[in-house]
Amino acid sequence: MLTIKLKKGRQKSLLRRHPWVFSGAIADTIGTPTPGDTVRIIDSDGEFLAWGAYSPSSQIRARVWSWDEAQTIDEEFFGHRIEEAIRIREDLLPNEQTNALRLVYAESDGLPGLIVDRYNDGVVMQVLSSGIERWLKIVSDLLVDITGADWIYERSDVKVRQLEGLNLRKRVIRLRNTGSGSEYPWLVNIHENGLEFRVDVQEGQKTGFYLDQRRNRAYVGELSRGKQVLDCFSYTGGFTINALRGGAESITAVDSSLEALNQLEQNILLNKLPVERVDCRRGDVFQILRSFRDEGRSFDMVILDPPKFAPTRAQAERAARGYKDINLLAMKLLRPQGLLTTFSCSGGIDMELFQKIVAGAALDAGRDAKIIQRLHQDVDHPVALNFPESYYLKGIVVRV
Ligand code: SAH
Repeated sequence: MLTIKLKKGRQKSLLRRHPWVFSGAIADTIGTPTPGDTVRIIDSDGEFLAWGAYSPSSQIRARVWSWDEAQTIDEEFFGHRIEEAIRIREDLLPNEQTNALRLVYAESDGLPGLIVDRYNDGVVMQVLSSGIERWLKIVSDLLVDITGADWIYERSDVKVRQLEGLNLRKRVIRLRNTGSGSEYPWLVNIHENGLEFRVDVQEGQKTGFYLDQRRNRAYVGELSRGKQVLDCFSYTGGFTINALRGGAESITAVDSSLEALNQLEQNILLNKLPVERVDCRRGDVFQILRSFRDEGRSFDMVILDPPKFAPTRAQAERAARGYKDINLLAMKLLRPQGLLTTFSCSGGIDMELFQKIVAGAALDAGRDAKIIQRLHQDVDHPVALNFPESYYLKGIVVRV
């Protein structure tokens, strides 16, 4: 049997049910597993610890499928895990609230390396590990059966796949004949919080939409009445559209992507909201915040939702400077009693550190600030307690 034997004492994290086995923890590999093979993971005394998927080119040499020795890793296993992941979301996010949500969130759903996002009548999947790559056909067949999706699009065009020795790719995996020919329009309309958005699942960022911010967008909407809002890193307008519906007086949306801003304007029209209240600026937020400061502009609310500056802890220091910079500039633009809604989606920066960075920014900006709310990723991105890495999106709302 293909087996990975750990070094003495290196079973501790697995006993706490952390689902990764690092290469440095392995004493011996018995048999010659190929990428994605299921391996038995044992401690130095030969005791069973878990079943996992083998990944020879990654530092994360195996990812755990199951802690149960009696479990067979087969089609039925994947069927159960996927069904359960979908079921536990049903009452959290009923269809009235949204038809776009994360159905499977990798390690948090016991399926390391698999991301599945539903967008209306189809799903987008992302395959991030050799383990899922091996089971890809079975998993996509199961997804069609379980979700009834009309189409499945694969967005495995993410760099982390290279660490697994996998190529980047995006493609149609399944397409039900919808009667309108084989060309599916990859612009999909979705609704969330009573608003509509058009999502480009083929060319959009990530799998097309930042589903993790759904609840935070609604919250920002509630705070927006009568305010002059600056939405930095706006993408296709998740925050802007919610703020507009919430009665914002004006919104300046800033993003470096022209496609995103074009889609943002389309999304305003889709919701029949007043497009004249929104000013789109294409450019670098770091520069635009500086020019607004130099022009003496001010706002009642600033939203900062930047991309990941620090994917891992190693990059945390450089990233911290980036966060401090934009938060400091944003605070300078706020009128007295203004609100800063600021996020970090960097895995390498935890809530405590993020709060310290924002506190440092307030100090340097010479402003008093207090937290009125803490925010995090929405309910379809649960944080497995045995896998704290899954807690990546942190936000705070500060009154400045
Ligand atoms: N708030 C959005 C998601 C933001 S994702 C929502 O709710 O949907 C981050 C966005 O920042 C992306 O759209 C990306 O194009 C943009 N971006 C990245 N670096 C940037 C920079 N330096 N200046 C401006 N925009 C940037």
